[in-house]
Amino acid sequence: MDLGLRDKVAVITGGSIGIGLAVAKGFAAEGAHVVIAARDAGRLAAARDEILGAHPVQVLAVDCDVATAVGCDRLLAATEEAFGGADILVNNAGTGSNETIMDAPDDKWQFYWDLHVMAAIRLARGLVPSMKRRGGGVILNNASICATQPLWYEPIYNVTKAALIMASKTMSTEFIKDNVRVNAVNPGFVLTPDWIKTATQLTADKGGDWKGYLDGLARENAPIGRFASPEEVADFFVFLCSDRASYSVGSTYFVDGGMLKTI
Ligand code: NDP
Repeated sequence: MDLGLRDKVAVITGGSIGIGLAVAKGFAAEGAHVVIAARDAGRLAAARDEILGAHPVQVLAVDCDVATAVGCDRLLAATEEAFGGADILVNNAGTGSNETIMDAPDDKWQFYWDLHVMAAIRLARGLVPSMKRRGGGVILNNASICATQPLWYEPIYNVTKAALIMASKTMSTEFIKDNVRVNAVNPGFVLTPDWIKTATQLTADKGGDWKGYLDGLARENAPIGRFASPEEVADFFVFLCSDRASYSVGSTYFVDGGMLKTI
């Protein structure tokens, strides 16, 4: 299926590793140019080189912290200078949390609000004008199954990802008049380095069987009985950002191996 993404420009936050890198590679494989953003410049440069080595597209790597207004402005300015704007924005940068409501201080709530919600708002505000000039565009927000079905140990993650879903829905009604489609995806368990790091830490004093720990977690929570690979989630993202999904507006799609317990 030709997704019609050749020569489009896609901005992917958190594009240096995990789901974001897989999405960036997915766009590049379709002939789209990509702008990848993350804080760690070294890891970002390695991701850029990997994509450039595999696909004849342009890749711009912007090291910035999208949880800040300054960082978002840096990404917007670099994208404008290199490509004169963008056609696609994937708000993917994010991370899990671990706290209780009773113990977490205000500044922790603020950090996750800025990372999961304000980054999406600021970057949408910055890129919609160029999408409009280019005849339309797509914004895809990567939330989480935890936006709907919370995990007990990460209330701040659950709440801010739920807020991102509402931001996504609200953006979709405002932006569709400019032919900018906005949707969200709620992945379940996706095997990214972050999970391996967590599982390694959790099993360190019990033999270090991180893989066994993750397999057990998947069997317990997801009817499919395994984690997704970043690539099988990324394919769905890339499709949603293509004109093949042209009637999808303001929706949230679960990619979770059956983990969601409600209809
Ligand atoms: P990873 O930890 O593997 O990657 C996160 C990416 O985001 C990295 O590129 C990281 O780079 C970047 N990033 C983090 N904070 C910032 C910041 N402040 N500014 C710019 N870039 C930032 O995560 P995953 O691939 O696992 O997750 C990606 C998204 O998917 C997240 O939003 C996550 O909540 C969501 N998700 C993941 C699931 C999973 O099972 N893996 C399940 C459901 C949702 P750097 O650290 O260098 O900034």
